[in-house]
Formats: sequence, structure tokens, C-alpha cells
Amino acid sequence: MVTALAADLSRILPAERVSVDAEELSRVSGDALAAYRAFQRTGGVEVAPSALVSPATAEEVAAVAAYASERGIPLVPRGGGTGVMGGAVPVEGAIVVELRGLDAVHEIDHEGRRVTVGAGAILEDVEDALIRSGLLLGHDPWSRPIATVGGAISTNGMGYLAGKYGSMGEQVLGLQVVLGTGEVIETPGVPKVAGPDVDSLFIGAEGAMGIITRATLIAHPQPEERHLRAYRFTGFIAGYSAVQEMHAIGLRPAMVDFDEEFPRDGIGQPVESETTLYLSFEGYREEVAAQLERGHRICVASGGELLPAEEVEEFWRERHSSAERYKREMLLHGHAARRRRRPWRMDYLHVAIPASKVPEYHDYCQRLLLQRGIPVREWSLWGRPEYFSLLISDPSPEGQTDATLMGRAVDDILTAAQDLGGSMEYCHGVGLKLMHLMRRDRGDAGFEALRRVKQALDPERVLNPGNLGL
Ligand SMILES: Cc1cc2nc3c(=O)[nH]c(=O)nc-3n(C[C@H](O)[C@H](O)[C@H](O)COP(=O)(O)OP(=O)(O)OC[C@H]3O[C@@H](n4cnc5c(N)ncnc54)[C@H](O)[C@@H]3O)c2cc1C
Repeated sequence: MVTALAADLSRILPAERVSVDAEELSRVSGDALAAYRAFQRTGGVEVAPSALVSPATAEEVAAVAAYASERGIPLVPRGGGTGVMGGAVPVEGAIVVELRGLDAVHEIDHEGRRVTVGAGAILEDVEDALIRSGLLLGHDPWSRPIATVGGAISTNGMGYLAGKYGSMGEQVLGLQVVLGTGEVIETPGVPKVAGPDVDSLFIGAEGAMGIITRATLIAHPQPEERHLRAYRFTGFIAGYSAVQEMHAIGLRPAMVDFDEEFPRDGIGQPVESETTLYLSFEGYREEVAAQLERGHRICVASGGELLPAEEVEEFWRERHSSAERYKREMLLHGHAARRRRRPWRMDYLHVAIPASKVPEYHDYCQRLLLQRGIPVREWSLWGRPEYFSLLISDPSPEGQTDATLMGRAVDDILTAAQDLGGSMEYCHGVGLKLMHLMRRDRGDAGFEALRRVKQALDPERVLNPGNLGL
């Protein structure tokens, strides 16, 4: 069926890049946010858009934006659709702009240690191209095989190597962005610019400020050496102390992946927790040797026991396996698999709080969850001592607990992080899931300032309306 909207869009783009096919619209009607984690959402996590466009150039994206802006039609940018907060879930009547067609690796500037890529490129493809050139992408999330550059910038994602290289936003040197009006801006691809850095308006903006079409990213030198280590600790605080101590002397391992896990036995009863710290030290040879030696002394002083090398090697080999599974089970099997997900009520929360407040916050969460009878499956730190996560699950084995019990606990935990001077989420963004807490996260004046920026960049409010609570 050709709708009037599709006919209009087909005058702007080649017809094969416009779809109103029900299957295709259904495919892009949701992302990786499962309904069971969207405690505050009443409208469901799947909304079919009115049309899907798959532009191949920034000019095509700009033409669609100009058209949508004139008519007030919402535009929802989409990369790999792997976001876990619902940021790519369309609003009613929207045109989804799928950016996968902009997937070229335009230039690798070896001497300048930069790479320029289309926003729709899959992170792993960028990584592979860089590796062939003796370089490295600093962003290495679990979802490297399935997420795009534009999606990772727009969620300001975190990866395994963030301890040394920082978040995805910290890889950005310059951007090409289509604004809500259809205007295109381009920023210089250098580490620092004169005046305010406009790139930061689009990093973590989840498509609400502009549609990223191209990015120039840092291409790091491949480390001369990479040493992986694993240590077992007794309890969360012992391992936290080791990580904190390393950071206190400026020792920043590239990978800090620290978890206290609470496994269950065959009949679902908790057994003793396992606390493991996985580290990667990487860089030039002498630096790595010094880090290894000092890092080892710090871990042992906090009670850490060095584990056999095979344990950490297996961890490293398997670090993208959840994304490979997601690709097999969800992305390659069509959107229907998304809806068949087991209604198992659980949640993973990733807050950023001052490193010194982690023990106090850990105790607070522990007390609150114990009082409410909600089991913790895992406490963790990722990348730095400030990045604290917990995984909680439904107290009833059948997954029948009232969602408001879980939802209220989640909000109480996140707002407590805000009250300690932190932020409610360091990894996955805001999306539908957390938009109700965004004003609180930024404060009234800060949130109003964001609103005014949105108004300036997207006066007709067509870009992902509602995202970030804007
Ligand atoms: C198995 C699995 C593991 C994961 N592991 C990690 C992890 O380790 N670290 C991590 O940070 N995340 C992880 N995620 C979440 C997800 O992969 C990231 O949020 C990722 O960065 C999203 O990229 P995407 O291309 O899929 O974006 P999408 O889901 O398509 O979009 C995310 C948001 O960005 C917007 N957007 C997308 N492209 C653009 C663009 N070009 N311009 C403007 N806005 C845009 C969308 O509108 C949406 O708001 C994981 C997800 C899964 C399913």
C-alpha cells in the first residue's frame, strides 16, 4: 500500500529507500528495551511508525528532515536498534530514519590517528578496519558486533576499555549532523576547538538534538603490550578498595571489570558469592610492566588472589558473546522474537557517583533491597570506581511480582545516586525508561537550559520528541 506520506518521501529519496511495508515497520517499532524493564511506561515498548526511510547520504537525511520539519512529522533516528532504554522506539506517526546505509569507513588518517566513518557503520567493522591499519577503536562494548557508531555516540556508550580510553563520547573528534530544520553542521575533527565544543550537544543526546551522519573518531595506537589479569576477592568492598587505590595513584587499567555475583544452586537457593576483578594493562612496554607490578601489589594488599591466566583469557574471548547471541536470537530472527522474550522481571542499573561515596551507596542499596525483599544478583564496577552497577531480579520465581514494587525500588536507587551528587545512568542513556527522572538528574535550571538548546536546534520539535524528557 502506498500512503500519501510514502509518495511524498519517494519524491525526496529513491523509492527503494522508502518503506511502509507492515513487516518492515514492525521490525523498527522497538529496540532492545524489554517491556518488563520499562516500569514507568504505560504505552508499551513497541510503536509502529508511519514510514521507514533508509537514506544513503547526509543530503538525503537533510532532505527528509526539511520535509518533516515543514509538516511537523516526528523523525526517529535508528542505528542498530540495540539500545536497551527505548530511545529508538518511535512515537505515533513518526518516520524512522534508519542510518545503516551510511556505513562507509571514509578515511583512516594513520599519522593523525583519526578515522572518519558513516554514522551507520557497525562498531566491529570500524574496529576491523582499524586493526588492519595497526590502530584501535577505544570503544569496545559488549554490543560491538551489533551497535552502530551513531547509536554509540548518541547513547555515549561504555565499553570494556573505557578505563584507559573513556566512553564513546570521548572518542569523538568531529561530527557531521543534520539538525531538525534540515541544516547540516560540520565540526572540525581535532581534539580541541576554539570556544564551546558543539559536538557535546549531540553526544548522549539520543537523536533529540540532531541526526549524526558522519563522525571523526580517535584511532588509538595498538598497544605494544596487553596483559590481562584476574583476581578473586572476598566481598565487594575489598575489590572496590583495590580499584580505588589504583586510581588514587593515577594507575588506570584499560579494563576494570569487577563483579560480586550471587549465583543460585539447582533449586534457586543463593550460594556463596564470587567476587572477581578482571584487569587489562596495556600501552607501551615499560608502562605496562610498571602497571602490572604496582597493580599486583595493590590487589594483594586488599586481599586479592591472582587467578590462573586461563580464567581471564576466557573472559576476554567471550566478552562479546551476549551480543552474538542477541544477533542470532533477535536480530536475525526478526522483530517477533523481541516480543516473545520471557516476562522475567529484572533490571540492571548503572549509576555514576563520586568514588568516595561508593561504599555508602552500596550499603544503602543493600539495605533498601533487603527491606523490600528484592534479590541482588550482582554488584559491579566498570571502567572506573565511579561507575557502579547492580543487577536485581524479581523476588518471585514465577516472575509475578507487582511491577510497581520493582519500579519503585529502581527509582529510589537511582534518585539516591542523584542525591549523592551523581547521575542515574552512565552506560545506556535515558530513553523511555528513565525520561521521568531526567529533570531531577539535571536540576530545574539545567533541564530548562537543555530545553532551550533543543528549541534552537529543532524548533519544530520533530527530532525524537519526548526523548530525554524534552
Ligand atoms: C546484548 C547487548 C549488549 C550491550 N552491551 C552494551 C555495552 O557494553 N555498552 C553500552 O554502552 N551499551 C550496550 N548495549 C546497548 C546498546 O548496544 C548501546 O546503547 C548502543 O550504543 C546503541 O547503538 P545502536 O546503533 O543500536 O543505537 P539504537 O538503539 O539504534 O539507538 C540508540 C539511540 O540513539 C539514537 N540514534 C541512533 N543513531 C543515531 C544517529 N546517527 N544520530 C542521532 N541519534 C541516533 C536513537 O534514536 C536512540 O535514541 C548492549 C545492548 C545489547 C542488546
